[in-house]
Amino acid sequence: MSAATETRPPRLAVRVPPRAARSRGIEELRALAEVGARELAGADADGVAQWAADTFAGSLAVACSMSDAVLPHVISQRAPGVDVIFLDTGYHFTDTLVTRDIVAEQLDVRVVDVRPRLTVAQQDATYGKDLFARDPGACCRMRKVEPLAEALTGYEAWATGVRREEGPTRADTPVVTFDETHGLVKINPLAAWTHEEVLSYAARHRVPVNLLASNGYPSIGCEPCTRPVAEGEDPRAGRWAGFAKTECGIHT
Ligand code: SF4
Repeated sequence: MSAATETRPPRLAVRVPPRAARSRGIEELRALAEVGARELAGADADGVAQWAADTFAGSLAVACSMSDAVLPHVISQRAPGVDVIFLDTGYHFTDTLVTRDIVAEQLDVRVVDVRPRLTVAQQDATYGKDLFARDPGACCRMRKVEPLAEALTGYEAWATGVRREEGPTRADTPVVTFDETHGLVKINPLAAWTHEEVLSYAARHRVPVNLLASNGYPSIGCEPCTRPVAEGEDPRAGRWAGFAKTECGIHT
């Protein structure tokens, strides 16, 4: 499995999604987040998805790393055609890009490929080859954090697949919160799920799952920064191994 090169054919997708129908101001969204947090604390994922669809119709985005398509499936059952944001960093495993294409084909969603301003070749030319090996924080900022922030502009809410079980930095993940960094409501319908529950849902509903997930990669990021983990290891132990870094910065 090798990282896809940036010489692959261009995808039929927009670099940054058109502005969604954001009509509410920050304070109104903050108040909605408080209501959601209060009312949905014990709700199941379907209930959370229904609330998200009812409350943010037309202004909801789903983030997906293409480790699996469980979250896009859960949300699209209640919000057909929902935008699914995929951060196409230029460093993904081929299996991840294959999963992305299957999701676009099989699910009732619109996959939006969000790309950095610089291609990998341009980044190499500007900052030196393999910035990820020297300064992964800067690399993630340019290839994930900033493109995501730009892409979320215009939406009122985004849903993520963050789960509490994934590690200490995610142990307190709320189901609904106001995302101060991006200025919109953040919804985590799978917060209480285990890895096994994700795989079980995928099997039950025939939802696409990245082949790497059953080959030692419970958490899948860019190829240069992801290694398989051993039995019993923290699921995210394979991310940025050798660095103190444990998050790419989009879930701060
Ligand atoms: S995960 Fe690695 S390659 Fe991907 S953006 Fe971050 S530092 Fe760069």
